[in-house]
Amino acid sequence: MQSDKCIFCKIARKDIPAKIVYEDDQVLAFEDAKPQAPVHVLIIPHDHIEKVSDLKEKDALIAGKVIMAAKNIARSKGLDDSGYRIVMNCNRDAGQEVFHVHAHLMGGRKFNWPPG
Ligand code: 5GP
Ligand code: ZN
Repeated sequence: MQSDKCIFCKIARKDIPAKIVYEDDQVLAFEDAKPQAPVHVLIIPHDHIEKVSDLKEKDALIAGKVIMAAKNIARSKGLDDSGYRIVMNCNRDAGQEVFHVHAHLMGGRKFNWPPG
C-alpha cells in the first residue's frame, strides 16, 4: 500500500524524481537530497509503513531486505574496507522527518559516536 501524500511513496511511484541507486520488487534505494556524507543513500520498502515502531512480524522479511540492500550498495560503492553507518530514525526524538520507513546508508567519512 502507498500513501498519496507521502514524498517517498511519490519517489517510489516515480511521480517525483530521485537519483535511484537500486530497485527491486520490494525495496528502492536513492540518493539523499541533502547528503550528510560523501555516500548518503536512503533505502525504503515500496510499501508505505510509517515508522520502525509500526513494523509487524510479517514485515520481518522486508526489514531484512532493506538492510541487505544497504549492505550491497555499500559494497558496490567500495565502502567495505573503510566502513559505513546504517541508521534508521524512529519518531520525534530520533529526528525522523519523513514518515515512511527508511534506512540511511552513510559512508566515505569518519563518524562520531555517540551521535548527537
Ligand atoms: P529522516 O530524518 O526522516 O530519517 O530522514 C529523511 C531524509 O530524507 C533526510 O536526510 C532528507 O534529506 C531526505 N529527503 C527528504 N525529502 C527528500 C526528497 O524529496 N528527495 C530525496 N532524495 N531525499 C529527501
Ligand atoms: Zn510512503
